[in-house]
Amino acid sequence: MTDSAATVRPDRRAELANGLARVEARIADACATAGRDRAEVTMIAVTKTYPAGDVVALAGLGVTDMGENRDQEAAAKAAEVAAAGVTPRWHFIGQLQRNKCRSVVRYADVVQSVDSVRLATALDGAAAAARDRPLEVLVQVSIDRDAARGGALPDAADPDRGLGPVAAAVAGADALRLAGLMAVAPLGWEPERAFARLAEVREWFRGRHPEATALSAGMSGDLEIAIGYGATHVRVGSALLGMRPTLR
Ligand SMILES: *Cc1c(COP(=O)(O)O)cnc(C)c1O
Repeated sequence: MTDSAATVRPDRRAELANGLARVEARIADACATAGRDRAEVTMIAVTKTYPAGDVVALAGLGVTDMGENRDQEAAAKAAEVAAAGVTPRWHFIGQLQRNKCRSVVRYADVVQSVDSVRLATALDGAAAAARDRPLEVLVQVSIDRDAARGGALPDAADPDRGLGPVAAAVAGADALRLAGLMAVAPLGWEPERAFARLAEVREWFRGRHPEATALSAGMSGDLEIAIGYGATHVRVGSALLGMRPTLR
């Protein structure tokens, strides 16, 4: 075997295979409990802080979707992974600054963290200039309506941050395709309460955008509850790859 930057040792591969088997069993159980088809739920491996070799190894184990939350790290990793001949679907799931849009549209297949009209407009412009097919977008929703943190605000008239205006801006953008909603359970909230609230927001949203069916919710600690409330995408980091050295 030739030595490439993007390879892992056999013991790391075994660790990832074990993590994947455990997470896969949890997802399958949660789907069975919720009376849902396993095929309705996509697992996104959140590879932030972990090297390109882990991404290549996960792809080799059958994982098709990867998530990253910082542009600088993601751009370098996506390039390294592509150089190894592997092309997963990359989901950008972190807070996105408008000046990073030009970079993100080059490697991301999906951006899950659009939460303002201004950001949607910037992303549309960047996507139109750099891509030959639309960029998929999920609008990030604030479950606790705390405007200081990320997420568009349900039931708010705010022309820049309201969920209605943000979704309409994405739906109306030529280089973007509105695919659904994303949310993170707020700190200090029971996941049950957070995802029940999110399910209500989604009902309202579906009345306006019936084609945008994706719901990205649930992480290592609460994926079962999110699946019970209709998640179509779960974003799993630590349960799959191990505890990150710093929390982010
Ligand atoms: C890091 C991160 C995750 C994964 O979190 P884990 O608890 O490690 O599974 C999911 N979603 C977002 C937005 C993240 O930043």
